[in-house]
Amino acid sequence: MPGREPVRPFRVRGLRRRWMLSSMAVMLLLTLFALITYTAVVGSYYYSSVRTGLETKASSSSAFFSNYVTRTYAEYYQSAYRYTALFDERDKLDLQFISPSGRIEVSTYGLTAGTMPGTEDISAALETKEMRSFLGRDPATGERIVAVSSPLVYGDGRIMGIIRYVSSLKLVDRLVVRNALIAVAITAGLLLAVFLTNTVFIRNIVTPIGEVTAMTRRIADGGYGSQIENNYRDEMGEMVSAINDLSIQISHSEKVKTEFISSVSHELRTPLTAITGWTETLSYDESLDEETRKKGLAIVLEEARRLTNMVEELLVFTRIEDGRFTVRIEKLDIEAELEEACFTCRELIKQEGIKLEYTPPEEPMPIIPGDPERLKQVILNILDNAAKHGGSGKRIVVDLDLEEDYQASGKDFVRIRVRDFGPGIPPDELGSVKLKFYRGSSKARGSGIGLAVCDEIVRLHNGILDIDNAPGGGCVVSVLLPTGPLPQ
Ligand code: ADP
Repeated sequence: MPGREPVRPFRVRGLRRRWMLSSMAVMLLLTLFALITYTAVVGSYYYSSVRTGLETKASSSSAFFSNYVTRTYAEYYQSAYRYTALFDERDKLDLQFISPSGRIEVSTYGLTAGTMPGTEDISAALETKEMRSFLGRDPATGERIVAVSSPLVYGDGRIMGIIRYVSSLKLVDRLVVRNALIAVAITAGLLLAVFLTNTVFIRNIVTPIGEVTAMTRRIADGGYGSQIENNYRDEMGEMVSAINDLSIQISHSEKVKTEFISSVSHELRTPLTAITGWTETLSYDESLDEETRKKGLAIVLEEARRLTNMVEELLVFTRIEDGRFTVRIEKLDIEAELEEACFTCRELIKQEGIKLEYTPPEEPMPIIPGDPERLKQVILNILDNAAKHGGSGKRIVVDLDLEEDYQASGKDFVRIRVRDFGPGIPPDELGSVKLKFYRGSSKARGSGIGLAVCDEIVRLHNGILDIDNAPGGGCVVSVLLPTGPLPQ
């Protein structure tokens, strides 16, 4: 369509990526955090239980060797040698006796005897004279170990030696890694499950959105009235049915617009044809007698007036549509206004053989708030309708009365009633006659906006426009206008 903005293509895939990124990224970060915390806690638990085991052993061994602090160094040395030889956990642990200078004197793992381990536990135990531990790499072998050193102290504070237990962390490390791997596997399974459910869920949203988008675009491209198949029972279903309603509405407005243009063109053409035809005849036909000339001029005048009314009606209608329509309320003698309108109309419809009967009210009517121009337009329109659509009854009856406390509303209204004796309005059309562009089944000419305009004017006066069929045939239109408050 010319002048239309190009539609930016809707990126369905973007939704999928965004959804995945936001939900999966959060899940991934959380599980990574949980995994790291879990591994750290498990690791530290294992390491500390190994160290506690070594500490228990070291303290019981140092309790045993504290007997030797009163004996000679040789006795102590021999005893250490024997103790080491009998040590039955040599396959798991290394038991060492270390001299105050930090050298291994006796060890279950014979090869280390004579070396200096040089780890912190030894230096700290020598310095503080208390049990100390170490977790880290053995400087000699590079292997990860836990070592606990417990000093044997003489009565005078000198250190006889250190009992040291060393355990390799190879097995424990393997255990920690195995635990971490199991946790990683469980987490990966969990993430996969979340990914799969997310994929299914997103597909359930993205696919229908794609279909709805394609269909909506088709409607936007002019396929008004097209319907999307609605297989969804959720929010998506609601959206689809809203779009379907919209499509029908658009198609309806399109139809109404086309009908309106065609009926208005027709409405304009009919009087214009009459005016052109008669003006030509009057200008060029010299043989016309006086009576035909008068008749022709009357027709031209009548059709020109009809055109003016129609254009005026259209102008008011467009003002109502864009919200610029207002009324100028002043103090109004409704009786005088109605009489004048009836007088104008009576002369016009007399030519069509229709008799207009106006019955003045028995008591004087109050002055009411109202816009004289607009209310006259309403009355003339209703009278015109009575002549146009109900003219076959050849009679129109107009009256005016005061309705005090109308329908127990506490308010007084004046009521103008116009009744014709035509065919009336079919009951199924009664509810729609006030709608714009509604023309019903009447064959008479019209644009279908007269009653819509009247209704709006009466509404702006806080009044009521009521259209019904009269008992005994014909149509009766009532205009109820409130009697107050009057403008200052
Ligand atoms: P128009 O008269 O231009 O068609 P209106 O809005 O004034 O439009 O009226 C809407 C429709 O209501 C008419 O087309 C006609 O079908 C119906 N209608 C209005 N007044 C009467 C009437 N007095 N008798 C029968 N039908 C009527």
